[in-house]
Amino acid sequence: MSSPDLTDAEREAVINVLHTPSLSMGPQIQAFEQAVCHYTGAKHAIGVNAGTSGLHLCIRAAGVGPGDLVITTPFSFVASTNVILFEQAIPVFVDVDPLTGNIDPDQVRAAAEDLARGGNHARKWLPRSGVDGQPPRLRAILPVDVFGQPVDMDPIRDVARTHGLKIIEDSCEAIGGRYKDTPAGTLGDFGVFAFYPNKQMTTGEGGVIVTNHDEAADFMRALRNQGRSPGDTWLQHTHLGYNYRLDEMSAALGCVQISRLDEMLARREQVAEWYRDRLDEIPGVQTPYISPHTTRMSWFVYVVRFEEGIERDAVSQALKARGIPNRPYFIPIHLQPYMVERFGYREGDFPVTEDLGRRGLALPFSGVMPEEHVEQVCRALQEVLNRES
Ligand SMILES: *Cc1c(COP(=O)(O)O)cnc(C)c1O
Repeated sequence: MSSPDLTDAEREAVINVLHTPSLSMGPQIQAFEQAVCHYTGAKHAIGVNAGTSGLHLCIRAAGVGPGDLVITTPFSFVASTNVILFEQAIPVFVDVDPLTGNIDPDQVRAAAEDLARGGNHARKWLPRSGVDGQPPRLRAILPVDVFGQPVDMDPIRDVARTHGLKIIEDSCEAIGGRYKDTPAGTLGDFGVFAFYPNKQMTTGEGGVIVTNHDEAADFMRALRNQGRSPGDTWLQHTHLGYNYRLDEMSAALGCVQISRLDEMLARREQVAEWYRDRLDEIPGVQTPYISPHTTRMSWFVYVVRFEEGIERDAVSQALKARGIPNRPYFIPIHLQPYMVERFGYREGDFPVTEDLGRRGLALPFSGVMPEEHVEQVCRALQEVLNRES
């Protein structure tokens, strides 16, 4: 489905670390964090061992605790919701924009207003089960930059200001993306990027948090390192923390990757263009929509949508039979078994999310994909569609 873009520079950087005794908490993580600050313009960057860990620390820093509510999207990778559940808080799902797949700012506003009014107004935004007792309190909004396209943040920031909410931007799919010329990840109070090997750049496993809040940055640095605050010794722990550290080999890999990021994003853009030009000739296939607010798309995956009447799953199987890997994207979070069991969600609860989930298919995509492969995939898709109809 995807492939990391690695050169000898990355290999050398990792090997060089292995010629030193510093395999964790050394100079590489500092250099990497500095590079992330430089790239995004954020004041602080905190390297962590996964995007999920980063989001979890943001939830803690935003003061989200047991019973608190966080408005978020069901059209995402599960981690964006799971980190809310890690703290016994409750995700309040609102549906998404049918074009971008990003959280719908009008619904965010409506949900925040109704939750503030309480009673029956609030109840209609809450899950059927799994929320008991006292009126819960809305704390934060956690939007996701889906498939590398930044969320429409201006109206969401407005809601956050009105209701005193923190914004955690899940930019795990969007490093290098830009919204009205502002970097993805810096649009809210906290932003997180992820570096699993299928992302635009990789550290193997890894992630990074960006923020301009000094105190929160110190707090998250402490939590990442077993709760040790500045001044604590190795066995003193001011907070309940975690081991969410990014090791030196990963950070060294990240330093080279981020120095090549713009070049790698440009290649992904080129591959996306090949796809679009070729797929526009195939009836029934919709290529990704790019909002006019997106001043730079950071291509993460290439997800097409099939028009009504085309059986996505049959197409998926037929492509696989021809040796073309592909994947439905996403299975809605509210319909994952553990969410249904805990909150009583049903099919029909978030119709736009479900519709996108039913019609979307991710095609093989990476920055190292040659044009012939794009052509192969498109030819196979065309044949399959001709046969299906
Ligand atoms: C990849 C991803 C994450 C989590 O990243 P990991 O590094 O795998 O923990 C979180 N949210 C979204 C939307 C992602 O795509």
